Amino acid sequence: MVTTAPRVGILSLQGDVREHARVLTELGAQVELVRRPGELAGLDGLVLPGGESTVIDKLSRAFGIQRPLREAIAGGLPVLGTCAGLILLADRLADGIAGQETFGGLDATVRRNAFGGQVESFEADLEVPVLGAPTVRAAFIRAPVIEQLGPAATALCALPDGRVVAAEQGNLLGVAFHPESTAETRFHRRFLDRVRRA
Ligand code: GLN
Repeated sequence: MVTTAPRVGILSLQGDVREHARVLTELGAQVELVRRPGELAGLDGLVLPGGESTVIDKLSRAFGIQRPLREAIAGGLPVLGTCAGLILLADRLADGIAGQETFGGLDATVRRNAFGGQVESFEADLEVPVLGAPTVRAAFIRAPVIEQLGPAATALCALPDGRVVAAEQGNLLGVAFHPESTAETRFHRRFLDRVRRA
């Protein structure tokens, strides 16, 4: 049997690119840093990192990669988005800045900065039924929440107050927190399973 490492891009305009690169490399992926449209060619999957969605949005337009990225996502490219990356995956945005756009794909309304500013950052242990035991240690850093999900999307986990903080839809997986910064690899593994199957 011949197995080749999946080629996984990380959108590297801004944000916590290195943390994702480390986890993906550990899990056997061949990581490519993506800034320009041509760098999307031949990718088996893409990660949209945490960072600042307003900045990533603006830079994606400046680099001319917004449209090709939208087309790649709409065409079925497996994508993992964390925090700002979840915001960028959402079809609908609440509390965006004026003129802020997303790449879309995930039939969801995502609210930016749902918990307030940096000082309101926190960690929580979450049950994620599709991942099984143990619970997920989740770091929320100026994190968004998923306010509404369309029929094609499925909630994967929620805070004790019921607010949804991870969801998936087909090849798209969006997480409001930062698994890449708490040694939690199961979301990346789930994403890579999608990548290998796609
Ligand atoms: N609040 C940030 C935004 O709007 C997201 C924060 C994060 O990715 N840690 O993009």
